[in-house]
Amino acid sequence: MVKARFHFHRELNDFLARPLHGHTFACAFAKTSSTKHMIETLGMPHTEVGLIVKNGRPVGFDAQIDADDLIEVYPARTTPEGMANGALLLRPPLRVADLCFIADAHLGGLAQLLRLAGFDTRYDNNFSDDEIEQLAQDEARIVLTRDRELLKRRTVLRGCYVRALQPDEQFREVSERFDLAPNVRPFRLCLMCNAPLRPAGPGEIDGRVPDGVRERHSRFVTCDVCHRVF
Ligand SMILES: [Zn+2]
Repeated sequence: MVKARFHFHRELNDFLARPLHGHTFACAFAKTSSTKHMIETLGMPHTEVGLIVKNGRPVGFDAQIDADDLIEVYPARTTPEGMANGALLLRPPLRVADLCFIADAHLGGLAQLLRLAGFDTRYDNNFSDDEIEQLAQDEARIVLTRDRELLKRRTVLRGCYVRALQPDEQFREVSERFDLAPNVRPFRLCLMCNAPLRPAGPGEIDGRVPDGVRERHSRFVTCDVCHRVF
């Protein structure tokens, strides 16, 4: 075993034991450990990391740690993507097309708010962790969860550990983390089904919208899966 020093910045300290918050601390590890392995051993999922600096120079997840190294780790939220030069990015830059999500079973309220804002979000309270991992990989989705172990899974490329407990605060958190505000497109997706909404014809509204609502609004959209009108 050899020892290196670690320093975690800002909100990454949430994943450490309280006495270590804000401190540089030494940690022993097996000689051939990668930075990713050590960071996750210390408790934080790789998805929450935005930048790793080894002895003053940015490195990737697979960099080997040597005795007496100083490893500084910065959170994803506050590290602008693309800040480091191409060779040192921990993951490819996030494009607008990448802003689709899969929410775990405890985040149903958040899933609805994301759909309402127009972001494609898979959610089913019966999804197992294995299914979430598989769907995230197959459909290139960002995993939203309060389960650190799910985010540590090897094939989960992007994710977000959701700290807040209330859906509106969770939405604000995810929105800030992935800069969603410029890309909000309300009434694009059904908040129940995640299916695309389309304009409803006059005949489709009859009997499905209360008269009062119909008088106050001129445009309606409908979902071809659940046939709700919004
Ligand atoms: Zn629907």
